[in-house]
Amino acid sequence: PSFNELPLSRPMLRNLSQLGYDQPTQVQSETIPSAMAGKDVIAMAKTGSGKTAAFGVPLVEGLNAKHFACQGLVLCPTRELADQVAKSLRQIARAKQNVKVLTLCGGVAIGPQIGSLSHGAHLIVGTPGRIQDHLRKGTLSLEHLKTVVLDEADRMLDMGFREVITDIFEQTPDARQTLMFSATWPQGIRELSACYQREPVDVRV
Ligand code: AMP
Repeated sequence: PSFNELPLSRPMLRNLSQLGYDQPTQVQSETIPSAMAGKDVIAMAKTGSGKTAAFGVPLVEGLNAKHFACQGLVLCPTRELADQVAKSLRQIARAKQNVKVLTLCGGVAIGPQIGSLSHGAHLIVGTPGRIQDHLRKGTLSLEHLKTVVLDEADRMLDMGFREVITDIFEQTPDARQTLMFSATWPQGIRELSACYQREPVDVRV
């Protein structure tokens, strides 16, 4: 398989090639077409499978860079993962001009994050607790959100984030797309998917 066979823009194809991504990994070739078509996806995929680009490429391809509102939200279990995801998203976003990716994690002062948010960001990557803090304060609005991604969803459940995630979902538009990535498929993941996804495409790699 080749990235050329996926429904991607020329700038994205060029960018992926510059990143040294010669061909899609399995989770990418199975997730990208469905996600680009606006479908919900639940993918069983581990770190190292290329899952970040599997959601990052559709997120970037689908966003309107001229609209300075949060269009994509990626929830991660830890700050380390959020930083890593944000770094990958920034590389993928080189395919478009002026895409702003912001990380919002706990453990650091909230003030500077509020300042960054006031300048607008297209894609936000963060940990559930801090995203919930911003929603409560009214410093983050998800009214223009198109896509929510749960990365390492099983780990977030293990860490006790279930209610926070539920609360965040309740503040997103009903018409949103929901992409879930999880290394395992416990009952809690199946329940989250049943509550917040519509006819999700199953990807197992
Ligand atoms: P991830 O599973 O998203 O953490 O990605 C694991 C590593 O694989 C990262 O260092 C990526 O930069 C790299 N990677 C992702 N997709 C590809 C690809 N299609 N070709 C080569 N490397 C890739």
